[in-house]
Amino acid sequence: MPVTVKTFTSTSEAAAALSSDRGARYLGGGTLVMRALNEGDIAVATIVRVADSALERIDASSGRITIGAGVTFARILAERDLTFLHAPARSIGGPAVRNMGTIGGNLFAPVPYGDFTVALLALDAVVSVHGGLGVRDVAIEEFLQTRERHNGALVLSVSCQRPASADAFRYRKVARIKPKGGSVITLAAHLPAGGGRISGARIALGSMGPVAIRAKAAERALEGRSLDGGSINAAAVAVTEGVAPADNALASAWYRREIAGVHLRRLLSGQE
Ligand SMILES: Cc1cc2nc3c(=O)[nH]c(=O)nc-3n(C[C@H](O)[C@H](O)[C@H](O)COP(=O)(O)OP(=O)(O)OC[C@H]3O[C@@H](n4cnc5c(N)ncnc54)[C@H](O)[C@@H]3O)c2cc1C
Repeated sequence: MPVTVKTFTSTSEAAAALSSDRGARYLGGGTLVMRALNEGDIAVATIVRVADSALERIDASSGRITIGAGVTFARILAERDLTFLHAPARSIGGPAVRNMGTIGGNLFAPVPYGDFTVALLALDAVVSVHGGLGVRDVAIEEFLQTRERHNGALVLSVSCQRPASADAFRYRKVARIKPKGGSVITLAAHLPAGGGRISGARIALGSMGPVAIRAKAAERALEGRSLDGGSINAAAVAVTEGVAPADNALASAWYRREIAGVHLRRLLSGQE
């Protein structure tokens, strides 16, 4: 089946093209879209591209950071102001994938992918989406839960608050093939603290459901407590509450449940 490629100079034209054609797909870095096309995915009839530098902008000059959807992982790794995001960016694929793959595309990546999105979920990011009715900011958790509905929309950027310290944000990806395998489980934790007590903990998990999810019972186990053996243990015990991992070639759902607490304990204890 022939595929039409449409290139626009503005994001609003691209958003209009996406929302008016059910067979249209936006082309980010193309690491997943081009694979689907090469495999003969007949659901894709139109490829939409946009040459607007706004999608490649990074604003990391203040506490609130905004990253254009077209920013690649290689760009993140080159940004000294974004060191807290280097671990998630580095955990994705090999150099070729990091050179092409974008933040925007990662929001739509199916399991066992979507590692960067796990980090963004723990950081309570906001996704700026240009849909048929204009531009809207959507909390990332809501965005992920309704992801199918955003297929006809253009993601412009993501923004989040910079963690207060290097220790307040932690990330861990478990893969069978290192360094570039798909995720067995991916974990990220944002641990804001005041007076030695955690307030507003966020723990996000990848490959533990159809999209990245928050481990809310584990978050509650940490709330108002200091990060010590007791609270870490309580969070590790609670981490599988509400998860729905799938079996795939990398690991069974049973195995993922078994190891979730082990890896959360290591993440929270600061172990390698
Ligand atoms: C060999 C290999 C290894 C990989 N390893 C990893 C890994 O370790 N971890 C990981 O997370 N991922 C991995 N991936 C998956 C993928 O490369 C990344 O998830 C990447 O972030 C996808 O981004 P992209 O720009 O290439 O997406 P694309 O392929 O361009 O797009 C993917 C989907 O997102 C949509 N999309 C992209 N940008 C936008 C936007 N701005 N607005 C609306 N929709 C958009 C597209 O329409 C499409 O549906 C791997 C892929 C390959 C081929």
